[in-house]
Amino acid sequence: MLNKRLGIVGSGQLCSFLCMAAKKLKISTTVFTDDKDGPAQNFCDYFIYGKYNDKEKIREFIENTDIATYEFENIPVEFLKLIEKEKPVLPNPDINKIAQNRKLEKTFVNKLGIKTTDWAYIKSAEDIKKNQNLLPGILKSNTLGYDGKGQFVLNSLDDVKKDWCFTADYILEKKVNLKKEISVVITRFKDGTLSFYEPIENEHRNQILFKSKIPANISKKIYEQAISNAKKISEELNYIGVLTLEYFITEKDELLVNELAPRFHNSGHLTIDAFNISQFQKHVLSVMDLGSKPIGKISNAEMYNILGSEILDYRKKTFKKNEFFYDYLKKEPREGRKMGHITILKD
Ligand code: ADP
Ligand code: MG
Repeated sequence: MLNKRLGIVGSGQLCSFLCMAAKKLKISTTVFTDDKDGPAQNFCDYFIYGKYNDKEKIREFIENTDIATYEFENIPVEFLKLIEKEKPVLPNPDINKIAQNRKLEKTFVNKLGIKTTDWAYIKSAEDIKKNQNLLPGILKSNTLGYDGKGQFVLNSLDDVKKDWCFTADYILEKKVNLKKEISVVITRFKDGTLSFYEPIENEHRNQILFKSKIPANISKKIYEQAISNAKKISEELNYIGVLTLEYFITEKDELLVNELAPRFHNSGHLTIDAFNISQFQKHVLSVMDLGSKPIGKISNAEMYNILGSEILDYRKKTFKKNEFFYDYLKKEPREGRKMGHITILKD
């Protein structure tokens, strides 16, 4: 018997996996999305398509939800606040405000004494000139970026286009010589219990995650620092749910926070098969206050994203016993779009 209802805003693959995890825990799911093709409609119990300002649809969502959560950070905070008036929304939407704004995010992290790349807030070409010390750098839109969208590499001032009119605001980050990237997926429960997976090593291609693996090939010192930063940040935010920290490790072995995602993460997909309990189940347990369950590792693993038309070949393949293929069931295999993933369990 399904007894409690989890409302989820968003309908992409993360939402689909969350629906599957909820089902395992006998929780039913209501999805609200502004994407009528959202693949999570194949996995949820109740699907609502509407705009973020559609009062009737919002009402329908609230009435079919006991506790609400969301799939990604770029959801209008006002919308989440509206839901919060009647039903709990976790993680707290105010955290979302920080995570969807690079300036607020980096300021918050730096205030805790945790390092990020050197950066500056940019509103004009003049601001870039003033911060030349950050070149070569990456200009990133302050809000609404993902998978490298809204980013420009600036090797020198010559790369600043004359016709840029700076209608949006940006941050300029110094380009780091990366040795490695890792992420930490941590869960915090209402009673303050923390539960985390070992750090995951990530490889990006064209700014999109290409591969994740455990164990991460990192020193004990970096391992411990990555976990302790994650604990500190989730405690400071009084966080409830799954939180992911993306880190850079520089060539000089410095650990820098790249960004925080107030949610389960692409790099954590390998937790579905490599652990007794996935990041999605952890999130459901935490936001529905069902108690933490100890994490047990089943195996080392590698996960590869399947982008665009690559999915067509995968759909025809047969897989070995240690290979787990997931098709997100998206309609159009657009170039660079995440269409599925495969996790390979290793000794
Ligand atoms: P998104 O919000 O699109 O995920 P990120 O800021 O995480 O944006 O950037 C995506 C990827 O681009 C990173 O994982 C990293 O591989 C690369 N990248 C981003 N910023 C820097 C930087 N300052 N120096 C070097 N590489 C970077
Ligand atoms: Mg990122």
